[in-house]
Amino acid sequence: MSFKQQSEQTIEQAYDLLKNRMKNAHERFEPEAKFPQLVAVSKTLPVEKITPLLDLGHRIFGENRVQEATGKWPELLEKYPGVELHLIGPLQTNKVREALKIFDVVQSLDREKLARALSLEVAKTGKQIKCFVQVNLAGEEQKSGIAPGNLLDFIKTCRKKYTLDIVGLMCIPPQGEAAGPYFAQLKILGKEAGVNNLSMGMSADYEAAIEMGATHIRVGTALFGKR
Ligand SMILES: *Cc1c(COP(=O)(O)O)cnc(C)c1O
Repeated sequence: MSFKQQSEQTIEQAYDLLKNRMKNAHERFEPEAKFPQLVAVSKTLPVEKITPLLDLGHRIFGENRVQEATGKWPELLEKYPGVELHLIGPLQTNKVREALKIFDVVQSLDREKLARALSLEVAKTGKQIKCFVQVNLAGEEQKSGIAPGNLLDFIKTCRKKYTLDIVGLMCIPPQGEAAGPYFAQLKILGKEAGVNNLSMGMSADYEAAIEMGATHIRVGTALFGKR
């Protein structure tokens, strides 16, 4: 696959290539639509690997573990103002407090218990957080996420009962299957739910995702090389 060669590329080359491909995919979709946001997935990477991308001016990053993020990001946040951190992995309710201290966006809201915990912490601290609801499109047992059939009710509950700021939907399509139909389904669900943002597409399929209306792509390997 095309991103394999990235280990020999500099981060600057990989970043330029990625932005170019994003641009082309966006033009094939709708040039008038808002340009998709690149969430650079820096999970498992040490600070020294992340710094070069920050030096290039990138400011949107994704991490999948609260503990890892709270370990390495405070020093970076101090040095690089304006960073927006997205949590893209499962969040345990006992980590909500820590998560809210460092993350601006939770992309993995996947159950009512978590919605309640987030809501309590928001009320306590006054720090609002943007949430994407994770949707389990293929009903995979090992994956978290709300079933498509329960999505509208879940979003209503999050908004009315827990006054959470639900801004979008997120999905991780099944491995080894064509992602296109799942991206299309997420787009329809987003329309039905009345949310504006769709987080879909990773290193292997971000162009397809953008062509289908992704507003956020989450890319690690194609930027930083193999983890
Ligand atoms: C790791 C991860 C990504 C990035 O995957 P790559 O294939 O390295 O681009 C995207 N989304 C989630 C939820 C992840 O855990």
